[in-house]
Amino acid sequence: MTHHVVIVGAGFGGLAAAQGLAGADVKVTIIDQRNHHLFQPLLYQVGTASIATSEIAWPIRHLMRARKEVTTLLGVVTGVDTRSRAVLLEDGGMTNYDTLVLATGARHAYFGHDEWEPYAPGLKTLEDATTIRRRVLLSLERAERETDPTRRAALLTFVIVGGGPTGVELAGAIAELAHHNLPPEYRHIDTRQARVVLIEAGPRILPSFTEDLSAYAHASLERLGVEIQLKQAVRECSEQGVIYGDRPLAAKVVLWAAGVRASAAAAWTGLPADNAGRALVEPDLTAPGHPEIFVIGDTATINAWHGKPVPGIAPAAKQQGLHVARTIRMRLRGHTTQRLFRYQHSGNLATIGKRAAVIDFGWLKLRGWLAWWIWGLAHIYFLIGVRNRLAVALSWLWIYVTGSRSACLITQGEHRPRSP
Ligand SMILES: Cc1cc2nc3c(=O)[nH]c(=O)nc-3n(C[C@H](O)[C@H](O)[C@H](O)COP(=O)(O)OP(=O)(O)OC[C@H]3O[C@@H](n4cnc5c(N)ncnc54)[C@H](O)[C@@H]3O)c2cc1C
Repeated sequence: MTHHVVIVGAGFGGLAAAQGLAGADVKVTIIDQRNHHLFQPLLYQVGTASIATSEIAWPIRHLMRARKEVTTLLGVVTGVDTRSRAVLLEDGGMTNYDTLVLATGARHAYFGHDEWEPYAPGLKTLEDATTIRRRVLLSLERAERETDPTRRAALLTFVIVGGGPTGVELAGAIAELAHHNLPPEYRHIDTRQARVVLIEAGPRILPSFTEDLSAYAHASLERLGVEIQLKQAVRECSEQGVIYGDRPLAAKVVLWAAGVRASAAAAWTGLPADNAGRALVEPDLTAPGHPEIFVIGDTATINAWHGKPVPGIAPAAKQQGLHVARTIRMRLRGHTTQRLFRYQHSGNLATIGKRAAVIDFGWLKLRGWLAWWIWGLAHIYFLIGVRNRLAVALSWLWIYVTGSRSACLITQGEHRPRSP
């Protein structure tokens, strides 16, 4: 019988594991609750109307079309029966495995206030991005028709909670949209008067970067017209806006870019987990007591970066996926020794609007337009396929030259996606 590898989740980790198994003597089944692989680093650009959804997502089935040994299934995994070695699906189905790779990622968390989610959507899926785009554009549309100055001010106030890379990128892009791209399109409001407020609980934005790069990002955002509130924890999110510190701020659009909660993979397998629900795995990325189960990417945690926890970023998930594939290949050849995972960090990147970025490669720190070009080229390089690379490059060039964003579309209702 051919060895059957089941991979749950076709994000960066799961896809890398599948790619790493190309040519191996295995049968692979990929199960994902969505039919597409998503390039999350550019999601904020869908949310801010720079690019279209199809430019950063690919049907998994299509990506695996040349791999006859790979079966792709659309389904929501709800559990794992480790005794009978079966993955359990929401619709009552099950799939047996010889080796299981759990790569189900994470989602934003509201620090125990899940009731805030309807008022402050986060950014993780295409549906999240189009929800954000819809809310931002609808708020501007309503402001155009609003005659009451107080209500209009609330419609023109955009709050972003969380000063990590996603919050910074969202704040910069919304400020650029409102202050530079949209003014010629409205007749009754001046979108340059829109307030973009970034609220961060810590003492500085981009805490994973060095202090000078973080200070540069702060100054660049302020130049774009973003108001930054540091050392301010949000205490309340509601239809009216937010309360941070003891200050209420009326805002019709609040976006959440703080906090992470891992998928339920740890609970499915009865594994110990950290405070964010990430499974604590063995040094070879297996589940303790279950060498046939690997847990990788954002849904796991491991101190494999010179003794520090591996960061929850795409290259880390990819490296783990490839490590798992190599381990499976070695095992098939009869090698049973534990292969320890070691994370290689290549750097941190974040962009601030369309002319500035910060890059920290450790050996090289860059900021400004050169960093922005490197950020842009790196992201285009990591997209899959020539068509998408060209489409994104063309969209950026178009916005850069004309200042006009063609993806300003209000679509779909208030559909909320399922959490992983
Ligand atoms: C807005 C945003 C911006 C980011 N920017 C960057 C960046 O600039 N650079 C960077 O390196 N990293 C960035 N990241 C982080 C990066 O995207 C993640 O670290 C990476 O996606 C983790 O890969 P993963 O394979 O663990 O999970 P994911 O890529 O999230 O994939 C998980 C997959 O599992 C599926 N799944 C989940 N639950 C189930 C279930 N129950 N049943 C079936 N399928 C399920 C999901 O549908 C998904 O396809 C960003 C993340 C976000 C959200």
